[in-house]
Amino acid sequence: MTEITGPVRVRFAPSPTGFLHIGGVRTALFNWLFARHHGGQFVLRLEDTDEKRYVEGAAADIMASLRWVGIDWDEGPDIGGPHGPYVQSLRKAAGIYEPYIDQLLVSGHAYMSFTTEDELAAMRAAADASGIKSFRFRGPERDWSLEQQREKAAGGASYTVRMKTPLDGETSFSDLVRGGDRITVQHDQLQDIVLIKSTGMPVYHFAHLVDDHLMQITHVMRSEEWTPSAPYHVLLYQFFGWDLPAFAHVPAILRADGKGKLSKRKDDVSTNRFWERGYLPDAMFNYLALQGWSYDGSTELMDREEIIDRFTIDRVQPSPARWNPDKLKDMNGIYIRKLDPQSLAQQLWPFLGTAGLVQNPPTDQEMVYVAQLTPLIHERLEELAEAPELLDFFFRDVRPGSGAESEALWYDPAGLIPKKHDAAQAREMLRAAHAALNQSTQWNVETLEPALRDLAASREWKVGPLFGAIRVAITGRTIAPPLFDTLAALGRGRALARIAMAATALED
Ligand code: GLU
Repeated sequence: MTEITGPVRVRFAPSPTGFLHIGGVRTALFNWLFARHHGGQFVLRLEDTDEKRYVEGAAADIMASLRWVGIDWDEGPDIGGPHGPYVQSLRKAAGIYEPYIDQLLVSGHAYMSFTTEDELAAMRAAADASGIKSFRFRGPERDWSLEQQREKAAGGASYTVRMKTPLDGETSFSDLVRGGDRITVQHDQLQDIVLIKSTGMPVYHFAHLVDDHLMQITHVMRSEEWTPSAPYHVLLYQFFGWDLPAFAHVPAILRADGKGKLSKRKDDVSTNRFWERGYLPDAMFNYLALQGWSYDGSTELMDREEIIDRFTIDRVQPSPARWNPDKLKDMNGIYIRKLDPQSLAQQLWPFLGTAGLVQNPPTDQEMVYVAQLTPLIHERLEELAEAPELLDFFFRDVRPGSGAESEALWYDPAGLIPKKHDAAQAREMLRAAHAALNQSTQWNVETLEPALRDLAASREWKVGPLFGAIRVAITGRTIAPPLFDTLAALGRGRALARIAMAATALED
């Protein structure tokens, strides 16, 4: 087991280039769990130096997504902290990066590169044409003196600052997710990457590293797609003479079919989507914790405290996790069933409101009605957003035939006729059911159920077809909550009217 001693400071450093992918939330969660388990701090930092990919509103969306799952931060853009600001463009504006790039230029670990984008593209094309598989750029200026570089820059030539990576030797580092095994890279596999763009903006490799150092980050935990970049980072730490943080590259999440990684473009994985579909934050938290981590290989249902308590880095697997939306949905169903009905009813209000079934917020009367209906669907609900479809017939008119969608939920009268029966038989059943129910002095499950069962017995009808015809008559569909509860909750007036209307629809 990898022993973690000393302070723990971790960070989640998303780029505000769009909505937060659920895999990003998983990486944030692992950092957060690690910090909480070890009593450390979790820092949120926005890496917005890629001006071309910046998306307005993304930062707010990222923060809202994290908060929704229940991830809070000890230092961050909105709350500040001792190492602020926590937004890289603001850090750049404050001149934080300049002394560090100067230091590398002076020590000869970086140089001004005057090679233009076009020249670089031509070099790549030439390398391609001559069959060189991977083109590794080393600029001619790496051998110039700093004075020469400065002179050329003073003449107005545009330049980037590149890292002068060593030509020979190797760099190795250990990764906590691989049990501390070392990963070694030969320097001839590296190239002189850009640290500062021609616009003066630092690129990720440089900015994040200076920030991690200044923010005293002890463990760099991030997605494994960054593993190939880590040798550059290790070299930069060495160039600066800084202590290395520990690295932990957490596994990628594969798509449900195992074909490639979960992708923003191909998969429906924006965090907002789960929020909108009515996933419970507790279920999401539990499910995401299992995407690349496991407690004992079998325990799956764990609450937040249990997960914090059990989350150690040696149980993070190096092999990729697999996204499984069905399993997530099942788990959400389990968490929904754990809710007490009153709390579930309250959580359903906004979904029913958005669907236009109740006011938003609901009236007192609607609240009482929703509380009455909630137990009817509690067991089967897997996403809160399913509730409007399951309950709409309680709030809207149900009519046989067809017409404007806004007027009623229309159904095909043919659906009233049970298998192996004809229209006349179905009509007869509905009329008899109407009469039997109408005689009930009380309108509740205890009176309605015997009324219909007695009717079936006295007419020698099977209950299946009889109940099926009534179900369609009152709900407009073949699958609906339990029949007697539905009849009771609809109320005498509406239930009898719908049954009568259905019988009439079967008249020729
Ligand atoms: N800004 C980087 C990203 O968006 C952060 C990577 C890291 O955690 O070092 O993934």
